[in-house]
Amino acid sequence: MEHNLIDGREKARIILEDVETRLRALLELGWNPRLVSLNIGDDRATELYVRNQKRTCDKVGITYETRNYDSRVTESEVLATIQALNADPRVTGIILQRPIPRTLDLRKIQNAIHPSKDVEGMNAQNIGSIVYGDFDLGPCTSLAAVHLLRSTGLNLEGLEVVMVGHSEIVGKPIALLLVEALATVTLCHHGTRNLNIHTRRADAVIVAVGKPGLITGDMIKPGAAVIDIGINQVEVSGPHGKVETRVVGDVDFESACRVAGWITPVPGGVGPVTVAMLLNNTVVAVERQKKRYEENVRQDIQ
Ligand code: NAP
Repeated sequence: MEHNLIDGREKARIILEDVETRLRALLELGWNPRLVSLNIGDDRATELYVRNQKRTCDKVGITYETRNYDSRVTESEVLATIQALNADPRVTGIILQRPIPRTLDLRKIQNAIHPSKDVEGMNAQNIGSIVYGDFDLGPCTSLAAVHLLRSTGLNLEGLEVVMVGHSEIVGKPIALLLVEALATVTLCHHGTRNLNIHTRRADAVIVAVGKPGLITGDMIKPGAAVIDIGINQVEVSGPHGKVETRVVGDVDFESACRVAGWITPVPGGVGPVTVAMLLNNTVVAVERQKKRYEENVRQDIQ
């Protein structure tokens, strides 16, 4: 089967064009989006995400500030920082880089970020809003995966979609976003018996687990769309027996691309679109903050 490679970098470029247009309109009115990234500890993968986010922000003209904290920082120090950022009108968005040290309560810290500044869409209020069909500030990776599935041209209404992985920030929100679009969704996880029975009958398979090679070509219905969210570093032997580190997804690309109708590569698939969604959320957050400010001014005048 001839597969169509879904080019995440190109899809991200198109999203960012729109982001830039809306950003220019905000800047002209004196609204200057400013993101603050909180980095706790020294995770190497996080450093890479932060660099990518900063580079993309610089490209479109969004101010991106990083604040680094030692892994011994206390929870009350982090919460106090977030409270100060919530109250600072110059800061329009806050990002909490994961992972954070185990000594800190991730959920508590995530929920301390004011929902209107939660550009990652990870706050319980923003995730909960998806149930009501409001996903303007939804979790970026979930929005990215659904955007890429839509980009195939497949009609989501009635589409049989199997979501593998049910994390709070990726799998569960994706299932809700798809239900909102009237897809028929099966959510698979550790407790699922015979994963391949589910994946083989799906028109689309979305995978977010963190296990390289979990989904192989024989688990996919011919012509189905495959969206691979997984990011895994694996060691492979390169030329002259030298061991190299490579980034792969959860899907065995070699076998899956022979069966799939559409497939996302890793890297270059969901990753760049996730960053584009983060910037889109950043602009959405400022548009909302501006609207609320204008409503307050109107009320004061009346
Ligand atoms: P997570 O919180 O660890 O969730 C993994 C999910 O996979 C859990 O729901 C787990 O179920 C399920 N699972 C584990 N083993 C399974 C199996 N054998 N069959 C079916 N389901 C299984 O991870 P996450 O944050 O969702 O991230 C998942 C992957 O996506 C990671 O590789 C991560 O690096 C990547 N990611 C990529 C992006 C991006 O922008 N591209 C963004 C976020 C995450 P149980 O809880 O029942 O064990």
